[in-house]
Amino acid sequence: MSEIAITRATSRKPRPADADLKFGTVFTDHMFLMEYSEAKGWHDPRIEPYHPLSLDPAAMVLQYSQTIFEGLKAYRLKSGEVKIFRPAANAARFERSCVRMCIPAVDRQMFVQSVKELVKIDAEWTPRSPGTALYIRPTAIASEAALGMRTAKAYMYYVVLTPVGPLFGINHKPLKILVADKYVRSIRGGVGSAKTGGNYAATLLQTEEAKSAGFDQVLYLDGLKREYVDEFGAMNFMAKIGDEIVTPPLSDTILAGITRDSVLHLLREWKVKVVERPISINEMYEAGRSGRLAEVWAVGTGVGISAIGELTYRGERLVVSSGETGPTTQRIYNELNAIRYGESPDPYGWLEAL
Ligand SMILES: *Cc1c(COP(=O)(O)O)cnc(C)c1O
Repeated sequence: MSEIAITRATSRKPRPADADLKFGTVFTDHMFLMEYSEAKGWHDPRIEPYHPLSLDPAAMVLQYSQTIFEGLKAYRLKSGEVKIFRPAANAARFERSCVRMCIPAVDRQMFVQSVKELVKIDAEWTPRSPGTALYIRPTAIASEAALGMRTAKAYMYYVVLTPVGPLFGINHKPLKILVADKYVRSIRGGVGSAKTGGNYAATLLQTEEAKSAGFDQVLYLDGLKREYVDEFGAMNFMAKIGDEIVTPPLSDTILAGITRDSVLHLLREWKVKVVERPISINEMYEAGRSGRLAEVWAVGTGVGISAIGELTYRGERLVVSSGETGPTTQRIYNELNAIRYGESPDPYGWLEAL
């Protein structure tokens, strides 16, 4: 464990009331920061009052997008204690993203320690109302000032915190989804399985088009044949077809969601039939037409568990579960939240104390 130097903020920001929380607009009093150089490796880990970064305009991240991030949450339990959901899983994924984007790996223990120490200092920012959490955003960027396409030699790693309400609001309606047939999110051999900025920039235009046509989110198909379901772009995909729960298998075109993994654990524990296999959009529509498509839902840290009420693909609208939240979606939502907020036992040890 490294020694983290701490400089405390001398004044505190006003904290929003739980009811006013939006997603990721207000940041806490402190941040974690450290740098990487070839000579020193990752060094100078510290917590400081929240402040803007000083970055050279030629910092390589700004031109070539050598950057990765993570997203995880600290929850305030029924007992009042604050705990973090599966930080070691995020540390492992951060390391995989580092490797894919040629960023020197941040030691997993250091990652977890950075997150825990920061949350400890700003723990009072963790909201109390149902559905709220303290969202944790670790990020690494190439900070070396140099033009020329190569791997950078200097990096910054930092962590910021933001108190959040539910991504789509509490008790939001099941989502309306546009199935993308114009753009793709990722392709075999690409960077779709890394949490790297370019993946999200790549989906902005499609998302804008979908939103202006009245949809909430986009479901992406595989980049090669545009036939198989990949994911939603920031959430993983699950469906109940007949008595089987299906989700696409992990590959380098899909982000390996920790919520996805947690939900699969629960389903297997419940002895529900779960299969990780490719699902074609045609299969889904045929299942929909014949009444076998029982439920579709999205899973991710930001959204939690969210029911999908309808899909539209090439102009054909498919209503799922009569546009309501289905029983499997509801059960997963309830159980995962019960664990997160300390209302159910945590047999898997998913919650970590600070
Ligand atoms: C973060 C993310 C997810 C969800 O992952 P969780 O670990 O469950 O939050 C899914 N897809 C993409 C593209 C993501 O960036």
